[in-house]
Amino acid sequence: MTKENLKIYFVILNETFPNAKCALNYSKDYELLIAVMLSAQTTDKAVNKATSRLFLDYPSLESLAKADLKDIENHIAFLGMFRNKAKNIIGIASKLLEDGYTSVPNDPEYLVTLPGVGNKTKNCVLAELFNEPLLAVDTHVQRISKRLNMVKESDSVLEMEHKLVKQIPSERLVKINHQIIWFGREICKAQNPHCEKCACTGFCSYFKKKKSTI
Ligand code: SF4
Repeated sequence: MTKENLKIYFVILNETFPNAKCALNYSKDYELLIAVMLSAQTTDKAVNKATSRLFLDYPSLESLAKADLKDIENHIAFLGMFRNKAKNIIGIASKLLEDGYTSVPNDPEYLVTLPGVGNKTKNCVLAELFNEPLLAVDTHVQRISKRLNMVKESDSVLEMEHKLVKQIPSERLVKINHQIIWFGREICKAQNPHCEKCACTGFCSYFKKKKSTI
């Protein structure tokens, strides 16, 4: 995408989703970490449904660390990969406490040592909690960035992250990350994107291809 079109894209995102923010509910920093870990391959809405009860019944890191695995599984049984995720919840709480943390540290190397926490979760949590200029490349970011020609189809997720971080102003990275995700949920959907409502048609490769096949 040209620099000119990139600027237009960011203006469109800002005008369409001025209040975009993290859609996961949490009141404590470790709750966010757990919610992001749970959101792998499922919707934020489903995660919020699961955590609304989970965090009421287990209101501290200590209670989560001591929890019965079966009971945690029952709380999150409608989420994909719930057995692994239940183990990860107990594992995250136990490891944080064993390592002397009562809250989530701003330490990227440490965070990826926690069970179920990979690069995307780490970036998402550090951006949200500490406003670190990091990009969480989720399925929406991947799809839209390919459609708008900001990355190549063949790029790995890490390659996409590096390319996108170079194209997005660092001071706006966190906000733009949320705006792209909202854009993906509401307009540029995976199946049947609402191109008729979208102001990016003038520079969208996907739209051009779609038009040429009609
Ligand atoms: S024109 Fe369509 S495919 Fe392209 S960014 Fe907009 S909604 Fe997505």
